[in-house]
Amino acid sequence: MLETVICGGNEIIKKNIPFGSPDISDLEINEVVEVLKSGWITTGSRTKELERRLAKFCNTSKVVCLNSATAAEELNFRICGIGPDDEIVVPAYTYTATASAAIHCGAKVVFVDSQKDNCEMDYDKLAEAITEKTKAVVAVDIGGIVADYDRIFEIVVSKKQLFRAKEGNDLGARIQQAIGRVLVFADGAHSLGASRNGKMVGEIADFTDFSFHAVKNFTTAEGGASTWRDITGIDNEEMYKQYQLYSLHGQSKDALAKTQIGVWEYDIVGPWYKCNMTDIMAAIGLRQLDRYPGILERRKEIISKYDKVCDELGVSHLIHFSGESISSGHLYLTRIPGVTDETRREIIIKLAERGVSTNVHYKPLPMMTAYKEMGWRIDEFPNAYAYYENLITLPLHTKLSDEDIQYIVENFRDIVKAYL
Ligand SMILES: *Cc1c(COP(=O)(O)O)cnc(C)c1O
Repeated sequence: MLETVICGGNEIIKKNIPFGSPDISDLEINEVVEVLKSGWITTGSRTKELERRLAKFCNTSKVVCLNSATAAEELNFRICGIGPDDEIVVPAYTYTATASAAIHCGAKVVFVDSQKDNCEMDYDKLAEAITEKTKAVVAVDIGGIVADYDRIFEIVVSKKQLFRAKEGNDLGARIQQAIGRVLVFADGAHSLGASRNGKMVGEIADFTDFSFHAVKNFTTAEGGASTWRDITGIDNEEMYKQYQLYSLHGQSKDALAKTQIGVWEYDIVGPWYKCNMTDIMAAIGLRQLDRYPGILERRKEIISKYDKVCDELGVSHLIHFSGESISSGHLYLTRIPGVTDETRREIIIKLAERGVSTNVHYKPLPMMTAYKEMGWRIDEFPNAYAYYENLITLPLHTKLSDEDIQYIVENFRDIVKAYL
């Protein structure tokens, strides 16, 4: 027998709406089968093709495909020679990877609070957090909305006299010297395809990382990529080569190069990392990229339906499309006015009982055990806490039919109304 729920006083058939679901079509499946049959399954021609196509898509000279955004962010820091004794400013309101990638490099994370009623970092607090030790700031494009990099660049330029570039002649030192101010990194895990003032994510910050994890807009199952803006005096080929070395054990020849006749010998130039993308992943990515404009369009349609019900109820929500800011529409964050954490949890359960899975993005990092153990306390981040306290993220993905969206909207309205 089909289960039913009472919504708006009517008995309706209960749906089970998953919070996320990867959008994989036969195109991706067939491409993966091709790779598996081809005899070349690790990093190879498909990975290189995906890099070229993503660079074109982001309007940058180079993209490096890797196995996660976390690895991409870490390599972005390492390429720039950031390490122990350096400080990296990170918003308290984000996923752990934004901060942990900095910690992996040995740098000290300095958290800053959010703006009031906004999940973007408080840019005045960012300015205050910059010291002579600050090497980088990471902004997060939460939900796919591009952060205010104009403001961030203004701040780091105004603090230029504090910046101490790494000394020496290695690549990282040369990058720091060429940029000559605190470096601006984008955690673009959510924002592939988003733009602001006509510029794509990837060509805005100095360095950007993307995530292709299964729950993200664009997926290769696991995966990620790095890109950067051209830096005067720094050779992109040299940078690209260094990313390859970092991602493949510091081995001077990759597997593809070693397939040439008689070319067996390689050197190890550093005891580095292993985070390359495989051609199986790239195969999924290539066909996702063909379909990506349609995926973004569908997300936009769903968002407009959610905006309508939230505006009608007086529930605040992320503004994905405004003026020159075009989001990738990754997450739909709503905030129920006036409710406490406890009530928010109750609403989440009621939605789940109707078969609507929701989520919370994010519980601020200073509330997590690992960061508490490093001495961070949530009381120091009142805006981040307030933003989190009444937040509910609605399902937003391209496996949702119009009927599913209708069902979510009606049940959300029905349940939330009682708390307003
Ligand atoms: C998913 C996510 C990451 C990490 O992505 P991976 O590809 O899993 O490493 C980083 N930052 C944010 C904001 C994310 O949502």
